[in-house]
Amino acid sequence: MAKVYLTGAGPGDLELMTVKALRVVREADVIIYDRLANPDILQEAKSGCEFVYVGKEDGRHIMPQDDINEAIYQNALKYETVVRLKGGDPFVFGRGGEEAAYLYERGVKFEIIPGITSAISAPAYAGIPVTHRGVAVSFRVVTAHESPNKKESQIPWENFKTDDTIVFLMGLHNLPKITKKLIEIGKNKDYPCAVISKGTTKDQLVVVGTLENIVEKAEGVPTPALIIVGKVVELREQLKWFEGHA
Ligand code: SAH
Repeated sequence: MAKVYLTGAGPGDLELMTVKALRVVREADVIIYDRLANPDILQEAKSGCEFVYVGKEDGRHIMPQDDINEAIYQNALKYETVVRLKGGDPFVFGRGGEEAAYLYERGVKFEIIPGITSAISAPAYAGIPVTHRGVAVSFRVVTAHESPNKKESQIPWENFKTDDTIVFLMGLHNLPKITKKLIEIGKNKDYPCAVISKGTTKDQLVVVGTLENIVEKAEGVPTPALIIVGKVVELREQLKWFEGHA
């Protein structure tokens, strides 16, 4: 009987893939993958492995999620070992839960292989710890991708008044709105934030600024990128280690 492995590919650096993910990629009969999963991983597949691209870009679905669910299911009818490879972690804004539920409803066996999410690893490679004693006791990971049709924001802005770290995924195009909102709820204009583009890869780019100037400073930064807001950003000055070493 077929099994589908809903697999986190990690954030970009190939070595940030788990041993388990690598094992199933090597065993796979078919790999169904996204743009965010590093395509070099596919070179690890055995010969004869099929590749199915179901590209997603920054939350914009080239293929609707229903079709992706169905494609995974159809492949499970055809092949024994199906790997659904997703960027970062499959359950962190990866819609892995929906895919697993679709398979459950159809009696297909599945396993979840967690991955290292970009939400913590891109900051780590930028020298920004998401928590730090005396600076931030917690961190939140928030989707900043909202349907343009929605008039009311779904994001609980009022909860962001504390100094806890906030990581916004899928939010680069909403950066002006995010910074404006955070200032509106009472954060200082010179509150630290950063944009991290292509984190953990050799093209990693980090722009550090304040709520007031980050929009201007981060103009034209390529995706995928995340936004990190919090005093922990200031630690980068001492802790940045990666750029220049990649
Ligand atoms: N499941 C993924 C997130 C999917 S949402 C994970 O756990 O990482 C896609 C968003 O993730 C992008 O819009 C971007 O905000 C962020 N992202 C993914 N890879 C990234 C990277 N290498 N550097 C910076 N941000 C990244």
